Amino acid sequence: MEQTVQVDDKGVTTELTGDLWSTVLTQLDEVAERLQLDPGIHAMLRQPERELTVAVPVMMDDGHIEVFTGYRVQHSSARGPCKGGIRYHPEVNLNEARALAALMTWKCAVVDVPFGGAKGGVSCNPRQMSEAEICRLTRRYTAMIMPILGPRRDIPAPDVNTNPQVMAWMADTVSMLEGSSVIEVVTGKPVVLGGSLGRNEATGRGVAIVVREVLRRLGRPVEGTRVAVQGFGNVGSVAARLLQEMGCRIVAISDVSGGLRNSRGLDVAAIAHYLGMHRRALLADYPADDAERISNEELLTGDVDVLVPAALEHQIRADNAAAVQARIIVEGANGPTTRQADDILNERGVVVVPDILANAGGVVVSYLEWVQDLQRFFWEEETVNARLEAIMQRSLHEVWEFSQAHQVPLRLGAHMLAVRKVAEAIQTRGIFP
Ligand code: NAD
Repeated sequence: MEQTVQVDDKGVTTELTGDLWSTVLTQLDEVAERLQLDPGIHAMLRQPERELTVAVPVMMDDGHIEVFTGYRVQHSSARGPCKGGIRYHPEVNLNEARALAALMTWKCAVVDVPFGGAKGGVSCNPRQMSEAEICRLTRRYTAMIMPILGPRRDIPAPDVNTNPQVMAWMADTVSMLEGSSVIEVVTGKPVVLGGSLGRNEATGRGVAIVVREVLRRLGRPVEGTRVAVQGFGNVGSVAARLLQEMGCRIVAISDVSGGLRNSRGLDVAAIAHYLGMHRRALLADYPADDAERISNEELLTGDVDVLVPAALEHQIRADNAAAVQARIIVEGANGPTTRQADDILNERGVVVVPDILANAGGVVVSYLEWVQDLQRFFWEEETVNARLEAIMQRSLHEVWEFSQAHQVPLRLGAHMLAVRKVAEAIQTRGIFP
C-alpha cells in the first residue's frame, strides 16, 4: 500500500502511513530519476540481494514447542559486508525487513562506512517471554541464518527489543558452531566480549553533534537554544543530556507515558538518574514539582527552536506538521516524519535533518567496534568519541553542501548522495560474472 491521504465524512484529513517498503521504493524511484540513474542499477537497488525466511522452533518453559518465523534480508553488499539490526517484535515481517535493510544501505553510504545494508528479526512478543526463552530463540534463529552471516558477509547489531546480551548470545552461538572465536560477527556487544566503549551512547551523541553543527551553520548560538526531545530511551535521553551539556535548554521531554515541560529548562541529568534508579519507571512517575505535564502531541507542537523526535516512526504527520513550531528538526528515530508531513515542513522552510544522517552515530560506532574486533586492539572512549565526531561532522558537511548545490531539502540530498555512492560502487565492481 502506498502512502496516501484519506478524508473522512467530517472532512478530517488523516494519513494512511502505509507500508514502509513502498515508501522506500517510491523515494528510490524519485532519487533515481533526479540522478538519471542507469535503469539496470535502479532495478538492482529495487530488489534486495538476498532474503532468508526461517522457521525458529523454541522449547518454551512449560515444555511445549512454539514455532516462530525469522528473517534476514541483505539489501546490498556493493560497498562492503551487510550491516543492520535484529528486531524482536510481533509486527516483524519480510517487507519491513526489506525497507529497513535498504535504509541501512543508504545510511552506511551517507556516513561513508564500508558496509552495505541488512536487517532481520523474529516475529514474536518478547515481553511475554522469559529470558531463557529469548536466549533459546536467539540461539536457534542465529543457527538458522548463520549460513549467510560472517564478519565479512553480514554483521548484525541490536535493534528494537534486542540488546547487548542478545548480541552476546549470537556471538557465542556462531563461535560454538564454528569451533573458533568469531565475536566480530555482531556489534553492539557487551564491552567484556569485544564491544566498544562509547557504543551505548553513540546514536544520541551523534544526534547532539548534528544539532550543534546545524545551529552553527545557520549562524545561531548553541547557548540557550530551546530543545524538545520526544522519547527518553537510549537515543533521546543521551541526546538531551549531551545537548544540555553543550549549553542548550531542554524545555520539554516525553516518553510513552507523556511529557514534562519547563520553559526555564529541565534538569535532564536528574531525571535520567531517577529513571536509572527505578527500573521500569516512566516520566509520569517522576516527581516533577517544577515542570508542567504535557502530552506527546503538545511536545511536538510546542514553542521551541529544535525538535528531536527520538521515539517511534510516523510521529510528525499531515495532521500535525503545520502546527510544529520548531524551525529545526533532527530525526533521532527512524522514519518519524511521514512523506506528506515532510512536504509540509519543506514548504514552511523547516530544516529537517533526515534519520539516515541524524541517527547514524550508532552504525558509525558499530563500524569502529568491528574494526577494533578485527584488530583485537581496543581504544579508549575518547578515541571512539573523537572518531564519531569527525565522521558525523564530515557527513553533515557533505550532505549540507550537496543539498545546497542541488537546491533540494536535506532528506532528498542525503538520499541522492547515498544512492549515487552505492551506484558508483556497483558500476566500479561490474556485474558478476
Ligand atoms: P528505546 O526503546 O530505548 O526508547 C524509546 C523511547 O520512546 C522510550 O522512552 C519510550 O517510552 C518512548 N516511546 C515509545 N512509544 C512512545 C510514544 N507513543 N510516544 C512518545 N514516546 C514513546 O529506543 P531507542 O533505542 O532510543 O530508539 C528510539 C528510535 O531511534 C527508534 O526509532 C530506533 O529505531 C531509532 N534508532 C535507535 C538507534 C540506537 O542505537 N538505539 C540507532 C538508530 C536509530
